[in-house]
Amino acid sequence: MERTLSIIKPDGVSRGLIGEVIKRFETAGIRIAAMKMLHMSKKEAEGFYAVHSDKPFFNSLTDFMSSDPIVVMVLEGENVISKNRELMGATNYKDADPGTIRADFATDIEKNVVHGSDAPETAATEIKYFFSELEIH
Ligand code: UDP
Ligand code: MG
Repeated sequence: MERTLSIIKPDGVSRGLIGEVIKRFETAGIRIAAMKMLHMSKKEAEGFYAVHSDKPFFNSLTDFMSSDPIVVMVLEGENVISKNRELMGATNYKDADPGTIRADFATDIEKNVVHGSDAPETAATEIKYFFSELEIH
């Protein structure tokens, strides 16, 4: 069993895509082990995306991620890290496979509806950023 962090980004929440995204996870046999809605501050968004702090898109990305509420989830299942990345599609929606969340709903390389951890180490760090062990069921 593996765990990963999923975020429905501000564009996904404000466009009414929470149910659509969750339906795709559950249909794929992924279990939701924790979930909450929150509105990150700019500082919290910078902390979450610290790995990208030297990138040209960092300031815009952290403005976007702190612009409106998000839904954060812990997903659980076999190979859920890569399974979730497959359901999400490529970072740039123009490169994303048809039928993926980003291909179907993203409007921009930045506003791409969902985040998903990319490896076991980042999953562990990212889950801890939002959830205590008592909040994961
Ligand atoms: N991003 C962006 N411009 C880029 C690359 C990434 O605005 O050229 C944003 C986009 O929202 C992406 C996030 O930064 O989801 C994190 O980038 P990463 O390369 O980690 O992509 P992801 O893991 O989300 O597919
Ligand atoms: Mg990433």
